[in-house]
Amino acid sequence: MNLSYSTDIVIFGGGIAGLWLLKRLRLEGYQAILLESNQLGSGQTLASQGIIHGGLKYALSGSLTKAANTIADMPTRWRQCLAGEDPIDLREVNVLSEHYYMWSATSFRSKLKTFHGSKSLQGRVEAVSKEQLPAFFANAAADGSLYRLPDFVIDSGSLIRELVRGQEDYLFHIDRQNINFKRDDEQITGVLIGTREGSVQIDCKRCVLSAGEGNEALLSQCGMTSIGMQRRPLHMVYVKQKNLPAIYAHCIGDDFSLTPILTVTSHRDENEATVWYLGGELAESGVKKSADEQIKAAKAQLQIYFPWVDLSAAEWDSFLINRAEAQMTDKQRPDDSVFNEENNTIVVFPTKFTLAPSLADKLVSHLEAKAVPKSDQSSAGTLRDLLPPPPLGNAHWENKFTD
Ligand SMILES: Cc1cc2nc3c(=O)[nH]c(=O)nc-3n(C[C@H](O)[C@H](O)[C@H](O)COP(=O)(O)OP(=O)(O)OC[C@H]3O[C@@H](n4cnc5c(N)ncnc54)[C@H](O)[C@@H]3O)c2cc1C
Repeated sequence: MNLSYSTDIVIFGGGIAGLWLLKRLRLEGYQAILLESNQLGSGQTLASQGIIHGGLKYALSGSLTKAANTIADMPTRWRQCLAGEDPIDLREVNVLSEHYYMWSATSFRSKLKTFHGSKSLQGRVEAVSKEQLPAFFANAAADGSLYRLPDFVIDSGSLIRELVRGQEDYLFHIDRQNINFKRDDEQITGVLIGTREGSVQIDCKRCVLSAGEGNEALLSQCGMTSIGMQRRPLHMVYVKQKNLPAIYAHCIGDDFSLTPILTVTSHRDENEATVWYLGGELAESGVKKSADEQIKAAKAQLQIYFPWVDLSAAEWDSFLINRAEAQMTDKQRPDDSVFNEENNTIVVFPTKFTLAPSLADKLVSHLEAKAVPKSDQSSAGTLRDLLPPPPLGNAHWENKFTD
C-alpha cells in the first residue's frame, strides 16, 4: 500500500517541544502532524526534574540579561496555563510542589552567595523564617538557611498526557531508520516514510525538527549546516523508599559554582513509594563514575545536607542521559531556547522544559513573518492505515522496576 498525504507542518519528535508546538500550531489554525520514533516523552522530557525555573542561575551570576528576563517570566506564564487562562490549557497537570527552595549549607561563604542571589532577584527570593520552615526542614540543624524561589515543580508524565489530549489523531509512530526527505532543488518539500506494509509520502510547507538528541541525525539528513547540536551528559541518581518526605530544593555548597551541589525533586512510583530524584553538580561531575561510585557519592551528599533522614530501607539506582542543546562556541550553555530555519526546515532546541511556551511564541511569530499559509484541512486519506499511534513513555524509575 502506498499513501500520499499533505499538510502544512510536519513535526519530528514528541517530547515537550514537539507536543507543545503541535498543540499550539493547530490552535493557530495550521494543519500539523507529529512523527515520533520511540515513546512520547521518552527522551529528556520524562527524565527532566520538572522544575519550572525562574532564573536563579542568572541572578546568582548577577547578569540579568534578556534571556534571564525571558526565563524569569516563565513561572507566571506556566501558572496561567495551569489555571486554564492560556490557550494551552494545563489544568489537569499535576503540580508536585507549589514552591521550590534553596537550602544553604551552614558555612558563611555559602550563605553569602545565597544572600547575593536573593538581592539580585529583586525580592523574588524570600528567606523563610525559622517559624515558617516546612516540616521537613524544621528538623534540620539550627544554622541552615532556607529560601523560597519563584520556581515550582510539575509532573512531566501528566504534562505529556495533557499535551497529547485532543491531538491523538495527529500523532504517528515511525521507524527513524526509514525516513527520507523529499526535495525540490535545495528546498525540503516533504517526508518519505517506509513501513513494512508500504510507503508514505507526506508533502508539507515546513518540517520542524524537535527530536532532542535525534536532531543531530535529522540535521545531517536534511543537509542543514548553519546550526549544530551539543550534548551535556548527566549521571542522575534516584532513591526510593516508602514514607520518605517530599523535598524540592537546590542544595548550595561552599564554592562559588553556579550549579547547586544537589538538585532534589520528589516523585511517586506506582507502588506509592517516594522517589527522590537527584541532579545538579552531582549529576554533572559523576558522568565518568560507575553506578556504584555515583550512588556512593549521592549517599555522601545526602548525609551532608539531610543527616536527620533515615535512608536505611532505600533502593538506589542511577542512569546516564544527555541534554541536547544547540551547539555553542566553547561548549558554553545556551541560556534561551534556540531555533533556526534553512531550506524550509526549522530546528528547535528548547534548552529547558521551562522555555517551551516562549519557544512556541517565537515559532508562531516566525511562521507569520514568513507568511506560511494555513490550509483549510489536510488532504484526504488516512495515515493511520500505515502509521500507528506512538505509545506514551514512563519515568525512568517506573521503567526500571516494572521490567
Ligand atoms: C536529567 C534532566 C533533568 C532536567 N531537568 C529540567 C528541569 O527541571 N527543568 C527544565 O526546565 N528543564 C530540565 N531539563 C531540560 C529539559 O528536559 C529539556 O530541555 C526538554 O525536555 C527537551 O525537550 P525536547 O522535546 O526538545 O526533547 P526530548 O524530550 O528529548 O524529546 C525528543 C523526542 O524526539 C524523539 N525522536 C528522536 N529522534 C527522532 C526521529 N528521528 N524522528 C522522530 N522522533 C524522534 C525522541 O524519541 C523523543 O521522544 C532536564 C533535562 C535532563 C536531561
